[in-house]
Amino acid sequence: MNRLPFFLPMRNCPHRCAYCDQRTITGHSETPLPSDVRTGVSGIEGPVEVCFFGGSFSCFKENLQREYLSAAASAPGGSSIRISTHPLCVTPERLSLLAEYPVSIVELGISSLDDPVLNVCNRGYSGSEALEKISMLLDDGRFTPGVQMMTGLPDQTESSSLKDLELIAAVKGDRRMQLRIYPCLVLKGTPLEKMLNSGHYSPPGIPDSARWAGRMIDHANSLGFELLRVGLQETVSLSEGVIAGPYHPALGELARAFALALSLSRSRPSGPWTLSPFQRSLVLGHGRWGLRELARLTGREAHETENLISWTA
Ligand code: SF4
Repeated sequence: MNRLPFFLPMRNCPHRCAYCDQRTITGHSETPLPSDVRTGVSGIEGPVEVCFFGGSFSCFKENLQREYLSAAASAPGGSSIRISTHPLCVTPERLSLLAEYPVSIVELGISSLDDPVLNVCNRGYSGSEALEKISMLLDDGRFTPGVQMMTGLPDQTESSSLKDLELIAAVKGDRRMQLRIYPCLVLKGTPLEKMLNSGHYSPPGIPDSARWAGRMIDHANSLGFELLRVGLQETVSLSEGVIAGPYHPALGELARAFALALSLSRSRPSGPWTLSPFQRSLVLGHGRWGLRELARLTGREAHETENLISWTA
C-alpha cells in the first residue's frame, strides 16, 4: 500500500532527546494541522497508509489526536493509519483511543534498553519501563507493533544493542514485530553536538557503523523481526545538518551487505556460495564492500572469494 506521511516534528515529545532534531532529519519545520491532513488525503485515489512520523503522536491531548485521526480516517476505503510515538505515552487508555480509528501499526521509539545510554540521551525512561510498554502494546493485540532502535549512541556498545534485541524478542515471542534501525548521527544544534565538541562522544565511522547495524540485521533476522528500514531517509536538510557520525546515503545497503556476508560466512565458511541476482548489488555494489567483507570474514583475498560465488539465472 502507498504511504502518505505527515511529519509532526518533535511535537509533544516528553523530553528533548540528545541526538534529535526532526526538523533537520525530515526537512519539515512546520507541523501540519488536522485540516492539512484532511486536505492531503482528499486528493488520494485508492487505499493508502497515512503515517504520522517525527513526533510522539499518542502524547497529544485527546482532542487533537482525535482531530488528526478523523482527518486520516477520511482517506479512501481500505486505508489505514501508522503512528510513531514515545513509550511513555503508551497506556491502555491511549491505545483504546487509537483503536477507535483504523490505526493498524504503532511504532515505538526505543533507541536502547541500556539505562546509562538512555540517561545520557535524555530519553526519560528506563530499559525495563520500555520493555513494559512494548509488552503492553503486544498484549493489547489490536496493532502491529514496531520498534525503532539506534546504534552508535553515547555509551552504547554493539553487544548492548544485540542484547536489547534479545530482550525485546523474549517479550515478543512468536508475535509479529516490525523493526527500524537508525545509526546515530550528530546534528547541528543538538546536545549531542556539545558532547562531541567537549570530547564526551565519539561516533563510530562508516565501516564500523555498517558492521554494527549489519550484526543487528543478522540477529534480528534470526529472532524473527520484520526489518523495515536501516538508516535515515536522505534529505537535503539532513545532508546540510549532519556534523559528524556515519553519514552515507547507502548506509542501509552497506549494513545489509555485511549481514549477508556474515550469514554466508557462518553457513558455509569455505564456500562455495550460490546467490540470487537480487543479491548482486549487495555483494558487488559500493566498491565491492560486501565481497570484501565476506573475504575478510572468511580469511581470503577478494578475488578468491569472488571465484567461489555463482549466480542463479
Ligand atoms: S527522538 Fe523521538 S521522542 Fe526524542 S525528541 Fe526526537 S521525535 Fe521526540
